[in-house]
Amino acid sequence: MASQSQTHQLHFLLIPLMSQSHLIPFTEIAKLFAHHGVKVTIVLTPVNAARFNTILEQAKASNLNIEILSLRFPGQEAGLPEGCENLDALPSLNLSLQFFAACSMLQKPLEKWLEELESLPNCIISDICLPWTTEIGLNFKIPRLVFHTACCFCLVCHRNISCTKVLEGVTSDSQTFLLPNMPDRIEFTKAQLPVDERTGSDESKKYMNQLETAKLSAEGLVVNTFEELEARYVEEYEKGGQKLWCIGPLSLCNKAISDKFEIGNKTSIDESNCLSWLDSMKPNSVIYVCFGSLCELSASQLVELALGLESSNYPFIWVIKKGNYSEELEKWLVEEKFEEKTKGRGLIIRGWAPQVQILSHLAIGGFLTHCGWNSTLEGVTAGLPMITWPMFAEQFYNEKLLVQVLRIGVSVGAKASVDFGEEKDKVLVRSEDVKKAIEQLMDKGEEAEERRKRARKLGEIAKKSVEEGGSSYMNVKKLIQHLSENKSIIG
Ligand code: UDP
Repeated sequence: MASQSQTHQLHFLLIPLMSQSHLIPFTEIAKLFAHHGVKVTIVLTPVNAARFNTILEQAKASNLNIEILSLRFPGQEAGLPEGCENLDALPSLNLSLQFFAACSMLQKPLEKWLEELESLPNCIISDICLPWTTEIGLNFKIPRLVFHTACCFCLVCHRNISCTKVLEGVTSDSQTFLLPNMPDRIEFTKAQLPVDERTGSDESKKYMNQLETAKLSAEGLVVNTFEELEARYVEEYEKGGQKLWCIGPLSLCNKAISDKFEIGNKTSIDESNCLSWLDSMKPNSVIYVCFGSLCELSASQLVELALGLESSNYPFIWVIKKGNYSEELEKWLVEEKFEEKTKGRGLIIRGWAPQVQILSHLAIGGFLTHCGWNSTLEGVTAGLPMITWPMFAEQFYNEKLLVQVLRIGVSVGAKASVDFGEEKDKVLVRSEDVKKAIEQLMDKGEEAEERRKRARKLGEIAKKSVEEGGSSYMNVKKLIQHLSENKSIIG
């Protein structure tokens, strides 16, 4: 078997989950460490390698030492249709467990690849969703860090809910309860918690337990956040004994304009059209509306959103992802002449938007988000106040962080978390709620102005954190230093 790399260039092996909101930060981690002189190998599958090839080729052209290890995805062996190599390509998110099973079959070919290497990587950075990487780390004696796609606030919420068994005293889904041992007063209803935390099938509970064990056995967690954003929660999490490395905001790795435009997928709008439209708008006047890569909204829910956007009278960019636009929705948009009525102040992007680039444009004044962590942090980084419309997984936690802790968010009023894909046939938020939240956010009064100021300030701190000497910059340096000295990362 190969031995640990003794040459002075460190080599990190990155193993992401094949889903847009995981692959995007992982490619950014690859660039970040390569910028610091580390050799990086990122494990992808052919379809995902093709999607991310341009970004990684650009990085290589700038002399960053990044290699793609492309492994065949055994989707069909796990019962998935051919070509489904990314969570966003599944015909239904109910196939997620089969998808995770297919991912675990990558263990063998990856071990074979490691056996054939002359010297082993110095470190594995594994996705939180891939518990089988624990065995690879143990088998090859490679230190393993886990990249968590959530924030520290969310990690602490999750830990406190399970450690304190607070849910045992909660009798109904709508009963509000106080989360124990939190640095801030945080209340939830059971209905807002991720489905796996309150109900969930035995199979999904088993999978969640595996993730937890794999997380706790890692030498530390790498998190896409910056210390100043949630310092008390970083500290609170570390009291449990596991080291956290806050190295974000990772989206700031994309310095070149072309990098920002090509994040994650081919965009569905021409760059110059998008920019000239934004350039024609007044500063801080436009609301950007996007629900990430996975949320599935029904046509009737999207109609409520459209009506809210129309009646609010503010300019907007509305991203309708592939899979959410349907014949029914298109028919409604045409019959109601929605695009004619909102002409000059509304832009619909059907498909994939250059989100990070749009958010950083001066014309954007607010972000209506589903509160996925990447989007949330991208909004914070752009210095924007946000309208929060969480749907599933940890999104309600992120809403609390934005609305109650950071006080830069206005809740649209979504009441309950749904299971992956289950939101399809539901109308959870009405047009009047959308209109009210937009008006509250874009208002010129003191409260809205204070919110904007807080958001702007956080955006500035975010940018400083990744500059030379900033907190995230220093954390990357320290992590590299630890690994090059081959010290235990803990403590
Ligand atoms: N994204 C994008 N264009 C889109 C939709 C999403 O660039 O049209 C990016 C977005 O910037 C973010 C990621 O996709 O980096 C979505 O991740 P998030 O954690 O917010 O949500 P998820 O997709 O997991 O629900």
